Amino acid sequence: MRELDSVETVGVVGAGTMGNGIAQVAAAAGYDVVMRDIETEFVEKGLDAIDDSLSRFVSKEKLSETEADAARDRITGTTDLDDLAAADLVVEAAVENMEIKKEIFGDLDDLVDEDVVLATNTSTLSITTIAAATERPDLVVGLHFMNPVPVMKGVEVVRGELTDDAVVDLAHGFSESLEKETWESDDKPGFVTNRILMPWINEGVRAFDEGVAAKEDIDRGMTLGTNVPMGPLELADHIGLDICLDASETLHEELGDRYKPAYLLKRKVEAGELGKKTGSGFYDYE
Ligand code: NAD
Repeated sequence: MRELDSVETVGVVGAGTMGNGIAQVAAAAGYDVVMRDIETEFVEKGLDAIDDSLSRFVSKEKLSETEADAARDRITGTTDLDDLAAADLVVEAAVENMEIKKEIFGDLDDLVDEDVVLATNTSTLSITTIAAATERPDLVVGLHFMNPVPVMKGVEVVRGELTDDAVVDLAHGFSESLEKETWESDDKPGFVTNRILMPWINEGVRAFDEGVAAKEDIDRGMTLGTNVPMGPLELADHIGLDICLDASETLHEELGDRYKPAYLLKRKVEAGELGKKTGSGFYDYE
């Protein structure tokens, strides 16, 4: 296994909400980053999001202008998977779809050196199943960052059935090098966080759909009533309703009816109202 102290270049697959956040924090920690998405438009959007986020850090005096510029200079965006060939560690943050993740891991397995650790940011999918698409299941690990990555401190490290102990240690060490704090979960559907979070979000959506209260009151009730920073509907918009639905469907499939996604969540996703990232979800963001 390639040790953490020889990791210089981090490959990030996916330039969306999570991928661009992971690229940003890795670059801010001094790693060179190659961030890949399938279309130039998505790469550009990811790079713009990084620019905006770094500027906010500068205006809040959490980073100097020089540090922000240096971080930005360490990130290369690409649509060519081959540009990840020299990566010393890869973090995958593409869409939450098992077939796509398996294909990506198969391709990465052929591309990068055989001692390189491949991590996935999946919210709910099995690390063991993703790892089985490679010839190196012992070097595959879950590295579940929280959204928004540059702000949230936590990373959930998920151990697949065959993940080597040294790889789990590297996952903790890499996260800590990004100034994150970690906890560990077994490879069970939804791990710790989404197993508990997704039913909470779905119950918020059902409460709204069934007319228990206005959406603002549901969110205010949960923020003021339970001291969390966002209520379920606002948080769902931040996560992306498609991501919530994919995660809920996996939990439903694996764990049964108590995880059935809310009807309105499905309807919103079908209408293309995916939350903040499309400009509307439960709230409008234009
Ligand atoms: P997103 O929809 O914002 O971005 C996904 C990106 O992946 C898109 O830009 C898409 O074009 C790209 N993509 C699709 N196929 C690809 C491929 N073959 N190669 C490279 N890029 C590809 O999604 P997101 O919210 O960033 O989620 C990414 C992953 O992180 C998912 O597995 C999700 O479950 C997980 N996750 C999401 C959150 C969240 O709050 N959004 C939190 C933790 C984990």
